[in-house]
Amino acid sequence: MAEHESLEFGKADFVLLDNVSMEEFMGNLKLRFEKGRIYSYIGEVVVSVNPYRAMNIYGRDTVEQYKGRELYERPPHLFAIADAAYKAMKRRNKDTCIVISGESGAGKTEASKYIMQYIAAITNPNQRAEVERVKNMLLKSNCVLEAFGNAKTSRNDNSSRFGKYMDINFDFKGDPIGGHINNYLLEKSRVIFQQAGERSFHSFYQLLRGSPDSLLRSLHVKKDPTAYNYIKVGGQIKSSINDGADLKAVADAMKVIGFTGDEVQTVYKILATILHLGNMTFGVDGDVTLIENPKLVSVIRELLSTKEENVEKALLYRTVATGRDVIEKQHTAQEAGYGRDALAKAMYERLFCWIVGRINDVIEVKNYDARVHGKNTVIGVLDIYGFEIFQNNSFEQFCINYCNEKLQQLFIQLVLKQEQEEYQREGIPWKHIDYFNNQIIVDLVEQQHKGIFSVLDEACMNVGKVTDEVFLQGLNGKLGKHAHFTSRKLSPADKTLEFDRDFRIRHYAGDVMYSVVGFIDKNKDTLFQDFKRLLYNSSNPVLKGMWPEGKLSITEVTKRPLTAATLFKNSMIALVENLACKEPYYVRCIKPNDVKSPLLFEQERCRHQADYPRFLQRYKMISEFTWPNHDLPSDQEAVKRLLQGCGFDHDVAYGKTKVFIRTPRTLFSLEEQRTEM
Ligand code: ATP
Ligand code: MG
Repeated sequence: MAEHESLEFGKADFVLLDNVSMEEFMGNLKLRFEKGRIYSYIGEVVVSVNPYRAMNIYGRDTVEQYKGRELYERPPHLFAIADAAYKAMKRRNKDTCIVISGESGAGKTEASKYIMQYIAAITNPNQRAEVERVKNMLLKSNCVLEAFGNAKTSRNDNSSRFGKYMDINFDFKGDPIGGHINNYLLEKSRVIFQQAGERSFHSFYQLLRGSPDSLLRSLHVKKDPTAYNYIKVGGQIKSSINDGADLKAVADAMKVIGFTGDEVQTVYKILATILHLGNMTFGVDGDVTLIENPKLVSVIRELLSTKEENVEKALLYRTVATGRDVIEKQHTAQEAGYGRDALAKAMYERLFCWIVGRINDVIEVKNYDARVHGKNTVIGVLDIYGFEIFQNNSFEQFCINYCNEKLQQLFIQLVLKQEQEEYQREGIPWKHIDYFNNQIIVDLVEQQHKGIFSVLDEACMNVGKVTDEVFLQGLNGKLGKHAHFTSRKLSPADKTLEFDRDFRIRHYAGDVMYSVVGFIDKNKDTLFQDFKRLLYNSSNPVLKGMWPEGKLSITEVTKRPLTAATLFKNSMIALVENLACKEPYYVRCIKPNDVKSPLLFEQERCRHQADYPRFLQRYKMISEFTWPNHDLPSDQEAVKRLLQGCGFDHDVAYGKTKVFIRTPRTLFSLEEQRTEM
């Protein structure tokens, strides 16, 4: 408790600030950060500033300090919010969720791991073996998922390239008895391409750097990552990460989780196959397309446990059904290259989903009978890719940023709900506040028929000319008047946008320019059926099991698969629905050395409120009605007059004891007038 009063560390809760101005907010955050206090609160939201160094604040003694305490009894900490979510779940039988947000590199994944560690540390006092097993699996799963789903980007050496939502199930005693992981859209384009300064997924480098020579030999791969086209594009082979040591940890974790020897071997074979595919090139001889490095075909055949001629055929030909006939159509060299890349990406994505599925198999709740044991409750932990702006933003960034819009929307709804309750307590009639409501951007992306995803799907369905430019034209046609959308055609003076290539979205967290190049392909996400059949017909049962749809023959495949955008949209809608029916707890992560954007972003989160005497004390000099003293019947009346005089009356609400200011702009303006005096 003491720390709340101690000015030395700044104010632990921003709601305690005298004036919620941006300067004060940041000043306080900075002061706390410099004093080694990386956690603060805004009301019940934990604000976490990435310390970028190991902190000695997650040990057993800290756990003991927070266990079973109320939020405000101890200095701000992740453990406090984890405990609050746990208590609500245990005492009140509530399903809760902890939503961790913030831009890339802000510390979300680390936070999610500390939260899980905390929950593991405070549960199972009786050391029941099954509960210990489950806890161990849940903790071990992180290491495996990060190896396959994380990569070095220009913003974060260990950036999550997939979204993760993990449910932890508890029995009536409050002990973990299982869990479930949902994964969202892996950035699979990274398998074949990385921007300068970035790497592919850790798993590839781990395999090459950490494996014994005998394994490398059996996979026909070299230790040196620069030998492989797919994983050297970004030119960043080295990183702060020790790939070799990590491989051991990942292999151990997989073993503990229960991956069999055959399964682990198959994982390695798939990684090696992808590396070999990346080195394969195609040429033409007359009107025949051919593989220029036939040795690779036999290597891949061996790794995939299939027939050599099948590998070659799948890479060079496509089976098409024309009416009643089935014919083999030869690819051009370019088409063959496209097919090869699609195969590499699909194999990796499938591998990743299969790994998640295998983890789910072992952590799912078993033998729990709610009739006997009472309701099984859940704490969900969401750690998803943060909002990102790169030099070049494509379909993946578009999806990631849309996902962040959805979560922001949920956050707004929650905060408004809390605020609504406070308004009611203060006796203010509730008015809908929509000044920063990003629903408009969510709609811009996901609305049926009119939204960007719909326009994209429509463009993909065109039979004739299906190009990225056609998609952009569709956007221009449908969204020409939208306040959050623009392109060169719509604002010709904006030279930063290229014709037929770029569009810009005004996101809640900033403007992002997207290039349409690749949108159509990535959305269609076509993998020729021939590849699916190839993998299904493998004599390796693990690999075969990953590709059940390869069972269908060409004439049986009729349905057009859902597009990547539609699948992603549906999964986001389901995610938000799932979160919305749980009691939410928020962690907002901030990157300290990239202060500008989180600053702008956070200002909307703090509740701009001041009680009447304090408000007058600060602003009375800007109005003739209040300077130097007012003769109105109450401070409340005086504040009203002051604000009416400045024309801000519409942007505030008057409570019994406090005034509530809606937009930060009003507050800035008041501050400005004050300093001009
Ligand atoms: P992305 O959206 O790219 O996945 P993220 O928000 O998940 O980003 P993290 O991977 O959690 O970011 O954090 C990036 C790095 O910052 C970590 O690898 C670690 O070095 C450091 N870091 C983050 N949080 C902490 C912490 N609490 N203590 C020490 N270091 C931290
Ligand atoms: Mg992460």
